[in-house]
Amino acid sequence: MQLNTQQLALVKQQITRVKAFEGSLYHQKYQNIEAADIQTPADFENLPFTEKDELRAVYPLGIQAVPDEDIVRIHSSSGTTGTPIIVPYTKQDVEDWAQMFARCYEMAGITKRDRIHITPGYGLWTAGIGFQLGCERLGAMAVPMGPGNTDKQLKMMMDLKSTVLCATSSYALLLAEEIEKRGIGDKIHLKKGVIGSERWGDKMRARIASELGVELYDIYGLTEIYGPGIGINCQKEEPMHYWDDFIYIEIIDPATGKVLPDGKVGEIVITTLRKEGAPLIRYRTHDLSRIVPEACSCGSPFPRIDRIIGRSDDMIKVKGVNIYPGQVEDVLKGVAGVSSEYQVMIDHLNGRDIMTLFFEMEPTAEQAVVEAAVGAVFKTRVGLTIVPKGVAIGELPRSEKKSTRIFDNRY
Ligand code: ZN
Repeated sequence: MQLNTQQLALVKQQITRVKAFEGSLYHQKYQNIEAADIQTPADFENLPFTEKDELRAVYPLGIQAVPDEDIVRIHSSSGTTGTPIIVPYTKQDVEDWAQMFARCYEMAGITKRDRIHITPGYGLWTAGIGFQLGCERLGAMAVPMGPGNTDKQLKMMMDLKSTVLCATSSYALLLAEEIEKRGIGDKIHLKKGVIGSERWGDKMRARIASELGVELYDIYGLTEIYGPGIGINCQKEEPMHYWDDFIYIEIIDPATGKVLPDGKVGEIVITTLRKEGAPLIRYRTHDLSRIVPEACSCGSPFPRIDRIIGRSDDMIKVKGVNIYPGQVEDVLKGVAGVSSEYQVMIDHLNGRDIMTLFFEMEPTAEQAVVEAAVGAVFKTRVGLTIVPKGVAIGELPRSEKKSTRIFDNRY
């Protein structure tokens, strides 16, 4: 999905603006780049990426691209794995974020008659305050809980008859389990759950949906790019619509940096089109997904990306093909007779790479049939011929971490 004329014009305006602001990240980074040189989508694809480490390196306010008097607030990434990234917002940025977030709620069929129970944290983090902003813009009633204190969460949820729960997947599961344990399901009025998008399994999804009795929606976003609210799935299908009048998304091969054709899985790279306080150009998110090229059955013109399937840091390359743990899971999920546990072995034998995929099978499954099916689906979806090996349930080691399911014996 190439930049359209309007997006290209916005990118050029943005480059002119960020370059002009002395002391900002891009003033330095774009010394030898002129907006006038960006005439075509191909020119845009030659612009350098912006990396998370570059944002860390200019801590605290080196990504600010407008004068101090125009900044109304900052947010910050958690910084648990190093220097945090501080993101300054102008009044317009806050307005734009609210508009995008309200659209997300609308896309999920939430209206001003809903009561939105918000459990993500408020404060430096973008989550709670973003859910709040969108709720107020929509005109619904916010119940600004923040995280923790399960007793109070459940009491408020019952007393106020909250209809929408906003949470991380793990917190939604915790609440769902608690509701079941206490046998108070009939006092809960939730209809929809809006869950911050990270990779979370189908089993977890099914449990949250059935125990809370809700429809679930994946909302996407990251602190560096406004926060949550830049995309969400609709009531018809799983992939997430995103707001291409505010952000431009490319999918790249994380190893080569080349832009991939629509439909191929790779790393999400985001360019903000209207952001003032801290615009980002070709920012590498390290989240993996793909552009979904088909039009959505809901009729919305907004383009779509698939659910996040993992992080590009987990990628492995076999015979020149990029493979991610999430892809392996998606393939196995779609084949009848296959259970959820798997293990991948990659070896180098007689001058070539061989990938063996071990997976557990349902007791009634016909081994040869299931193996052939897994091999065929893998070839079609991922583009690689593998050696599929079905084993009985319980034969593979259990592990919480996805990374320990892949063994690369080549080096
Ligand atoms: Zn749709």
